[in-house]
Amino acid sequence: MADRDGFIWFDGKLVPWREANTHVLTHTLHYGMGVFEGVRAYETAQGPAIFRLQDHTDRLFRSAHILGMSLPFSKEEINAAHLDVVKANGLKSCYFRPMAFYGSGKLGVAPKKDDVQVIVAAWPWGAYLGEDGLEKGIRVKTSSFTRHHVNITMCKAKANGNYMNSILANNEATADGYDEALLLDVEGYVAEGSGENVFIIRKGKIYTPDLTSALEGITRDTVVTIAKEMGLEVIEKRITRDEVYSADEAFFTGTAAEVTPIRELDRRQIGEGKRGPITTEIQRRYFACVKGEDQNHADWLTLAV
Ligand code: PMP
Repeated sequence: MADRDGFIWFDGKLVPWREANTHVLTHTLHYGMGVFEGVRAYETAQGPAIFRLQDHTDRLFRSAHILGMSLPFSKEEINAAHLDVVKANGLKSCYFRPMAFYGSGKLGVAPKKDDVQVIVAAWPWGAYLGEDGLEKGIRVKTSSFTRHHVNITMCKAKANGNYMNSILANNEATADGYDEALLLDVEGYVAEGSGENVFIIRKGKIYTPDLTSALEGITRDTVVTIAKEMGLEVIEKRITRDEVYSADEAFFTGTAAEVTPIRELDRRQIGEGKRGPITTEIQRRYFACVKGEDQNHADWLTLAV
């Protein structure tokens, strides 16, 4: 990732890609106390458009607030940084990585509170779980790793350190030949994927776990809105793994993963073992929204031209 042409927004300036560096004694590198986002821009008829930018920036600031971290830039400056990197890198569509981290001012568990640095990077990135996954669905394994307890690192902050749990779960699942992991909460109920929220469909109703142990996903919110527009009943409740086994359809949602059908969990085929009809329609509507083809949701887009 480091050896590329282009520019990264770093503490208020566009810095050449290869020079956007930090010291090895950077606090967040040692302890994981940082916050980040994953945002996407899609090519639309009007040019590149960032999907739900304000919602992502709001969550970045909420994550920082949860961790007691204060960001040295305003939300407006962070939003503008996204537009700057699209233009500076001549991107038509991209994935963005905004991140705030403690610099190298001090080591030891307690960071130097006023030593917060912020980046916004952007680069082209295709389907996170593969084009094939979007079409045919993926194979998922229930993880032996439990999702964070609300009083250990909490789940509402998109915090760097939380992703050690995601990496362990994802590595375990992929090493066993699956595409992704499904994590349960401390009580054994379904929480989310390593980087996705999860939905199941049974008898025409759509279910998703409540947010106690899951990230408040922006794609989750988009899909709930779409499902309601389709006239589907959306129910937030505790879900057990055997409910997933017996679902008619299941899918993951995430900015990176978009709407990815799940065709199998723990070697149990879900429904017909392929992308189901309701998932197909939700996915179609999702891509219409992000690509600016749904005028009813034009307010979710920020043009980066
Ligand atoms: N859960 C986790 C753990 C994630 O990392 C993500 C990706 N940000 C999501 C859910 C989905 O969130 P969003 O739809 O906002 O990308």
